[in-house]
Amino acid sequence: MTKLSWTGFSKKTPLKRREHLKDNALLSQENQVLLDNDIQLSLETANQMAENVLGRFSLPFAICPDVMVNGDTYHIPMVTEEPSVVAAASYASKLIKRSGGFSAEVHNRQVIGEVALFDVADKEAAQLKIKEASNHLIALAKASYPSIVKRGGGPHRLWTEIKDDFLIVYLAVDTQEAMGANMVNTMMEALVPDLEELSAGKSLMAILSNLAAESLVTATCRLSIRCLSRDKNEAEYLANKMALASQLAQIDPYRAATHNKGIFNGIDAAVLATGNDWRAIEAGGHAYASHDGHYRGLSTWIYDQTAKELVGQLTLPMPVASCGGSIGLNPSVAVARDFLNNPDAKTLATIIVSLGLAQNFAALKALTSTGIQAGHMKLQAKSLALLAGATPEETKQVVKELITSKHMNQETAQAILKQIRKN
Ligand code: NDP
Repeated sequence: MTKLSWTGFSKKTPLKRREHLKDNALLSQENQVLLDNDIQLSLETANQMAENVLGRFSLPFAICPDVMVNGDTYHIPMVTEEPSVVAAASYASKLIKRSGGFSAEVHNRQVIGEVALFDVADKEAAQLKIKEASNHLIALAKASYPSIVKRGGGPHRLWTEIKDDFLIVYLAVDTQEAMGANMVNTMMEALVPDLEELSAGKSLMAILSNLAAESLVTATCRLSIRCLSRDKNEAEYLANKMALASQLAQIDPYRAATHNKGIFNGIDAAVLATGNDWRAIEAGGHAYASHDGHYRGLSTWIYDQTAKELVGQLTLPMPVASCGGSIGLNPSVAVARDFLNNPDAKTLATIIVSLGLAQNFAALKALTSTGIQAGHMKLQAKSLALLAGATPEETKQVVKELITSKHMNQETAQAILKQIRKN
């Protein structure tokens, strides 16, 4: 377990932060050099990854230090453009570590693919025929992507469901260390001729589902309510309010969407940093949020009055990968993965879901106590100062004056900057 100190890390300059990493040998020498030299994706590689490429697009790359998951400490890379996200995650992770950190569990790791059949005259009869042929169909899917079977994975279970005009055939596939979109799509397409013949129908499409309901991960944490306030009564009051906030997100979809957006502030930043497909993770998370037919908050918080602890839990699909896609192509992803000691796909999933729960804790704590704007104002003022064209030295003064100004907006920032320069 790492015992280094992160006190004052947020106050350092980026160069001093890099020195801190070097002094504590947190990265391999090769990746430290990549970071020190701001080495980005090459134009040549970028041009292979997407179409009509003109250049590369940069975003801040940060870390949330000292996050304890299942007894191990991680420094989680985060790529985000939103102020206060990394600060909030760092604050929450520090508090949660003091109470023993997160425990996280991967329930399963299978990706689901589907073939939607239409124009099937007798769906029940077709369903029976497909069921009888399921061993043959699974063998066919295996033969279409033998390398994943050699790696110990591959298709495991095939089932059918009748939904309106469709007979849908689902296949659950163990994609091992990959996210598996391409391999599952290959398998589903390989099944189409046989499925059309068995059903005497036509295939509308064959594709993986991003509702990765068989790739669920749960993170849990228990915090002593003393971390909410030193005053016992206030701490209890705040713990009850956080539990109420959790209840609200279960019943009000307007609040649930924002509650979940806060969770994804952390999740997306780590998913992006580790080279994973954040659209797939977002789609899966939001679809899972309405798995019982009602869109709900993905996390819950309860106040355990006996233990005087706040108990948080977050469950969502997290089919992230440690290889495949663009993971091996981007040098920044190599640095990000190095921060996490190059975790396998399951470990990475537990880290990312824990970060989502930390982010959620910070948001709910702020919302139910000081309000969200108190913490955001300084960062917002900083963005306004930068947008107005302030230098790093001028920014400090502009922020100070903006915070106490009547209208904190772009116009005021420009007026303050103009006045500073005049003086
Ligand atoms: P790849 O097509 O890159 O396949 C995974 C690769 O990883 C294979 O080449 C595989 O080698 C290799 N590999 C090495 N070691 C392992 C291991 N231990 N376990 C598994 N694979 C290993 O990626 P995916 O199939 O994972 O697809 C992900 C990509 O698909 C992402 O870029 C995603 O954005 C995109 N995508 C997403 C869709 C969606 O979400 N709806 C739809 C379509 C595409 P080998 O072949 O030798 O086994």
